[in-house]
Amino acid sequence: MSTKRYTVTSALLYANGPLHIGHIAGAYLPADIYVRYLKGKGHDVAFICGSDEHGAAITLQAKKEGISPREIIDKYHSINKKTFADFGINFSIYHKTSEKIHHKTAQDFFKELEKNNVFTKKSTKEFYDEENKQFLADRYISGECPKCNAANAYGDQCEKCGSALSPEELINPKSTLSGNSPIKKETTHWYLPMQKHEKWLKEWIEKGTIEGKNYHDPKAWKSQVLGQCKSWIDGGLQARAMTRDLDWGVKVPVKDAEGKVLYVWLDAPIGYISATKQWAADNNKNWKDYWQNKDTQLIHFIGKDNIVFHCIIFPIILKAHKDYILPTNVPANEFLNLEGEKLSTSRNWAIWLHEYLEDFKGQEDSLRYMLCASAPEGKDTDFTWLNFQARNNNELVAIFGNLINRVVVLTHKYWGGIVPRQNALTDYDREILEKLADFPDKIGSSIEKFRFREAITELMNLARLGNKYLADTEPWKLKLNEEKRTETILNIAIQIAGSLAVLSAPFMPFTSKKLSKILNLNNIPWNDAGGIVINANHLINNASLLFEKIEDEKIAQQLEKLNS
Ligand SMILES: [Zn+2]
Repeated sequence: MSTKRYTVTSALLYANGPLHIGHIAGAYLPADIYVRYLKGKGHDVAFICGSDEHGAAITLQAKKEGISPREIIDKYHSINKKTFADFGINFSIYHKTSEKIHHKTAQDFFKELEKNNVFTKKSTKEFYDEENKQFLADRYISGECPKCNAANAYGDQCEKCGSALSPEELINPKSTLSGNSPIKKETTHWYLPMQKHEKWLKEWIEKGTIEGKNYHDPKAWKSQVLGQCKSWIDGGLQARAMTRDLDWGVKVPVKDAEGKVLYVWLDAPIGYISATKQWAADNNKNWKDYWQNKDTQLIHFIGKDNIVFHCIIFPIILKAHKDYILPTNVPANEFLNLEGEKLSTSRNWAIWLHEYLEDFKGQEDSLRYMLCASAPEGKDTDFTWLNFQARNNNELVAIFGNLINRVVVLTHKYWGGIVPRQNALTDYDREILEKLADFPDKIGSSIEKFRFREAITELMNLARLGNKYLADTEPWKLKLNEEKRTETILNIAIQIAGSLAVLSAPFMPFTSKKLSKILNLNNIPWNDAGGIVINANHLINNASLLFEKIEDEKIAQQLEKLNS
């Protein structure tokens, strides 16, 4: 098997609040599953993420909490880094955009683009707060929503009706800093004329080629991702300002740019590159292999609100630099709702991951299973606590856990934990072994197509196959008079258990580890699953509980917490 090189990124997370299940289901869990699978296949992967620590969202939150932006980002960076790790999201590095190496990388990038004449400079009149002597970012302006007339809509969005707005549209705009009506003042910014890139972008998105040369397979892209890109391009791209008047961020590294920082589009995605540089330096690797080598696959995991950013704006920037590869795929997810309603940080309608980990100790995989099995891959989906309980109790406990428990208990009861031999096979045994052999490819090919729901369904089908085999052969009835037959049945059931230990690893790494310990296995490669993974005479350990049943009371508590 040939090994390939992958750079896998998950959207940088704003360091202004904690993580909730919507974030996880969108950009982080699918990426982690994908990366764990690739590593299991022996590929070389850099899995990159970190905190986005710049922009008005950070300074605004700092103001709200009455502390400095630095205190805000330090607080949430460490909380989120720990929460990801506790949930088993195994980044190669969880970096931060306030690091020096990032500022330098983003500034060098800007200078290279400036040198290549990628930008145009333009002066416009923007909202300005005279009392605070500051230009106002969209989030610093509020007023009446022109669409639904809600008070206090922001300059970029109305949270009441969800409309995207520009500050000019607000009725009676006010500065959120002073409460005064802002004036208009002239300022100059660097613009990216995106319309100049329409032609190659259209070809690249629709055909996967640039000037006839092949880059990626658009048939492997999700239809809703292609659809969103096409409608943007067909609607006509415009010049967008790449700099902002703000005192918090990466300083624009040229003359006459006092008080200006790079806008998020030239800051956050370049954070993937600077994080890779730091990881490479720490691990004796060459970062350029992961960003500038055309044999590398670059995959961005994001939520659907980030599609344009990663499929249009970032590729323009990468290509304009000239040294970089373009993304191979951007498997964006739709949104996860909670109990039938949109997740909302401001209304506290969310399940915060650090609270889940506290309330459901040792049950990380129950949530990983649920969020993967009901992931918003093709359309928005709904998380409900009752469904979570049902999937845990009826699938993880009753199917997966039950199979393992039966196999391990019987092996100890009959042979003191020593794996029995495989004797003469019946046609039915052969049929089961053939089916077992198909699972690594079946699950793997679904993962490679970013169909994680399909993949985890197949994983559970393998556990179902094991249960069915035992129910059909009833080895517990045979022991006394048909010892050889019993040995064969248990040997086959143990192979299924062993394959489950390997194939569950991307989805449920904690369970895979526990199960490997019970079966006394270490590091079996993905491709070896489906065959004889455990030899006769191998000693296995005693059974221990893989999954815990979740009682009604616990679910009632969570529902109460949500509605309080
Ligand atoms: Zn509105």
